[in-house]
Amino acid sequence: MKELIDKLYENNSLTKDELLFLLNNSKEADIVYLQHKATETRKTHYGSKVFMRGLIEFSNFCARDCIYCGIRKSNKSAERYRLSKEQILECCQIGHDLGYKTYVLQGGEDPYYTDEKIVDLIKTIKSTYPECAITLSIGEKTYESYKKFYDAGADRYLLRHETNSKHLYETLHPDMSYENRIRCLNDLKKIGFQVGAGFMVGLPGQTNEDFADDLLYLKELEPEMVGIGPFISQKDTPLSNEKSGTAHMTCILLSIIRLLLPKVLLPATTALGSIDKKGRELGLKSGANVVMPNLSPTNVRDKYALYDGKICTGDEAAHCRNCIEGRIRSVGFEVDMSRGDHTDYNK
Ligand code: SAM
Repeated sequence: MKELIDKLYENNSLTKDELLFLLNNSKEADIVYLQHKATETRKTHYGSKVFMRGLIEFSNFCARDCIYCGIRKSNKSAERYRLSKEQILECCQIGHDLGYKTYVLQGGEDPYYTDEKIVDLIKTIKSTYPECAITLSIGEKTYESYKKFYDAGADRYLLRHETNSKHLYETLHPDMSYENRIRCLNDLKKIGFQVGAGFMVGLPGQTNEDFADDLLYLKELEPEMVGIGPFISQKDTPLSNEKSGTAHMTCILLSIIRLLLPKVLLPATTALGSIDKKGRELGLKSGANVVMPNLSPTNVRDKYALYDGKICTGDEAAHCRNCIEGRIRSVGFEVDMSRGDHTDYNK
């Protein structure tokens, strides 16, 4: 196993059979070694820096019905909210005062936020804070829409592929197609965004073979960012009684991703911090180098309830920033408040 991990460390690639062997047969000592090599790789490219992104969850209205997600359109118990442009700008100002240089605008697929409104938002944020980067995470759109967002000044786009198993994808996403998800990611790359793909860990029915396929897909796409986190069940969804994914498996996959894509921007996600109190610290020790503290107003935080037990729902932005900074330092890393672009990126 050590030889296989060394091969992954040196070549940044493995075959599907090798990945499966690693996933199926790693013992505790192998995992420690894997994390050690992932840490070495992260240090080579990013030292001990952890980039901070200010997350603004601006709408939980959604036209989609993803069966794992607490803001799916069929969830009649979800208390819906939508931040106005002015409220989003207030979040940005708070973020700016706290030193953030990246705003991540995330939401459900909310028809109120037309392309024109998104373009106007991007332009206003960019003219107010010219030094900042904007990351969008607003789901599937046409090539033309993505191009408009890019031309307006958006820098990055997060769209997890969720799973590279077409069968599993289509079981989880009624009325959506795996092919369209992949088309979106290809379009985003073609246009020039720094792109974030990624998947959930521990979905019902998901196997190690599915993970191997996810990893190979990431290697082929070469996204600048990869977001992975445990699936966590949500009480008002069809998957409410399913077991959630684990921090342990998520961290193993984070280490493998760091070794497959050495320069990738890899967040220790909120879901990882929600499934385990020390999840984000464990993520950082497994190869992650990004965190995304919340800038949304506290009165809407608990309404963006993708899953149960989400952390930081009552905390002010300043509190979140201090809390995460303490956590980052506690595991020997340092906070970096720069834009934190991918090292190969020039817009
Ligand atoms: N609508 C956008 C999209 O589709 O990319 C962005 C918002 S969506 C709610 C953001 C991410 O939340 C998804 O990519 C999914 O992986 C994650 N998510 C949703 N429900 C989840 C759950 N129950 N457990 C863990 N992650 C979840």
